[in-house]
Amino acid sequence: MLLLGIHRDARACLLIVTALYLCHSWYFRHYINDDAYISFRYAKNLVDGHGLRFNLGDHVPVEGYSNFLWVLIAAVFEGLRLDPARAPHTFVTEGGWHFPPDLGSYQSGSVRPRAARWAGKQDLLGKLRDHVGRRDVKLVFRVDLRALTSLPEHEPHLRPRNAWGDDNPAAGICPLNADARELLRDTLADLLRYEPAGFQLVDWMVDLAVSRDPGRQFSWNPLLRQLLDICFCPACRQAADVDPDRAARSLRVHAERMITAGDEYDAIGQLNADETLRAYVEARRRDALAWLERLAASHEQRAWSMLMDRWFDADHWIEPETAFANLPDDLFRPVFRLLSSPLGDIDLQRDFVQPASERQLGSFGLLLPTWYPFVRQAGELVRTVSAATQAGIAPLDFAGLEEAPGEAIDRLRQAVRFARRG
Ligand SMILES: [Zn+2]
Repeated sequence: MLLLGIHRDARACLLIVTALYLCHSWYFRHYINDDAYISFRYAKNLVDGHGLRFNLGDHVPVEGYSNFLWVLIAAVFEGLRLDPARAPHTFVTEGGWHFPPDLGSYQSGSVRPRAARWAGKQDLLGKLRDHVGRRDVKLVFRVDLRALTSLPEHEPHLRPRNAWGDDNPAAGICPLNADARELLRDTLADLLRYEPAGFQLVDWMVDLAVSRDPGRQFSWNPLLRQLLDICFCPACRQAADVDPDRAARSLRVHAERMITAGDEYDAIGQLNADETLRAYVEARRRDALAWLERLAASHEQRAWSMLMDRWFDADHWIEPETAFANLPDDLFRPVFRLLSSPLGDIDLQRDFVQPASERQLGSFGLLLPTWYPFVRQAGELVRTVSAATQAGIAPLDFAGLEEAPGEAIDRLRQAVRFARRG
């Protein structure tokens, strides 16, 4: 009716533009930009009664959307629960299960997953399996359960607890927690229908925080940060063969002295001399590894590797004979290390090849993040890739390629070409 008052030519023009717009929208109907999930998450938390906040827990609420009305509209649809896959005991993941999980496989555990929203009901892994099957290429799945932030948010009982008894949400989920283990076991079993040749587990290690947020308390002091990340959840306390209360008390004393006395306090010496705390850490590490070995044994015919995106510095209290060196050599290889410092600071021979051979870690891979700012200087990337190939490091895994800007891909091609030339 409104259109009747407008000139005929203008009306025709408006109709054409509207039609074009609708065609354009229809063409992109399956595409949702990842930023939209920021608003979706606000909408979901609003509907769940947490208010307008992105992160739950003790984070200060921040307005991270720029489209208040859109959040409210999304909240209406969220509130109607139009998605039939949503059911009690399933949790939403923004970047989680990249395949429609067979919920029957998760009956025994208390936590049941669902496909990542972007994946929806599409079975992309099924397509991938068929595709590689025709080309005789093997599939290896990388499973990074601990990094799913929505998992501890929705299932707070999986969270590690520090020596003060507080939640440690930045640490992901505790790998000793029985439900977390059940979830990993069920997920691997579920993945078997895609006939993988192997699995790569990421960061499945005790006292290893998955958050690299520089805003974390005391992140400027890695040793103190490591102490604060040591878990005292009920499962960890049970696995320890020393009195967990004594270990926690002792840890609190070290931490307080490190804060108040600073360099005056010989933290490394004191920690090395602390038998109770060392025993507490060791027992849980042994427990975590023994469980992993049993899990790997139940998938005997498949290849396994462990990915860690940080390893314990040999200068620190957690000494080389623990952590990585404790990984059963023949089970988890190659061991990858994610290069997480500026490329220029890395001496490949000193930092990678030498420690790997000393610790008899077998073959050794390198995970290179390809997003900014690591590739800001093309020359550095070219030098690193050449140096890695010359040092005999293989395989090289370029992480984050799918999210890297086009420019980074060009530089990477250049680096690979250069390295091949020698
Ligand atoms: Zn724990």
